[in-house]
Amino acid sequence: MTDTLDTHDLNAARASIVRHSRSLFERGLATGSSGNVSIRMDDDSILITPTNVSLGDLNPLRLAHLDSAGNRLGGEAPSKEAFLHRALYAARPTARGIVHLHATYSAAVSCMDGLDPAQCLPPLTAYFVMKIGRLPLIPYHRPGDAALADTIVDLAADHAALLLANHGPIVAGTSLEQALYAIEELEETAKLYLMLRGSPTRPLDGAQIANLHAVFGPASQR
Ligand code: ZN
Repeated sequence: MTDTLDTHDLNAARASIVRHSRSLFERGLATGSSGNVSIRMDDDSILITPTNVSLGDLNPLRLAHLDSAGNRLGGEAPSKEAFLHRALYAARPTARGIVHLHATYSAAVSCMDGLDPAQCLPPLTAYFVMKIGRLPLIPYHRPGDAALADTIVDLAADHAALLLANHGPIVAGTSLEQALYAIEELEETAKLYLMLRGSPTRPLDGAQIANLHAVFGPASQR
């Protein structure tokens, strides 16, 4: 996969966030004013979507620009979930892009009872194993609860993708594009999982997963 975005170039990052966010909105992966998207620049500043705006109607010059401590350098007030992005970036030094959605199928799974908190979706397909790996479930926190950041930091070093209970997924990538590909794979896998409920299902076995890791490397490093 290619990512030609120069993370020195703030204007290119702004354009990339606007374009990808609109695509998420137009495909129904982000509705209302839900979802947030960010890019970490080479100077460790973060460009993130503002609070209370539709991902389908972003103004590139109004994206919130934060320094590494979270102070606003420009733009509108950041998403109320910006602290999640900052926690994930802090735990994953290689992360350059993060996407958080309340996408329907993964949000539905996040509301199910009896999930394995260490792996809340089974390894149904090779691409889920390659792009997500094991998906931990983060216990419910009310919106804006800063304690959620502490919980995320503990897991994020080993997991690029997390599912927030009764909420939705958040995924980091070595580029915004990687994070997008991964969160879309997660959403599709959640859809398959729900479609297959009640049907005899054979997820990939340990040897098949080990073979994918041997050939492609573990997903947590992407
Ligand atoms: Zn959210």
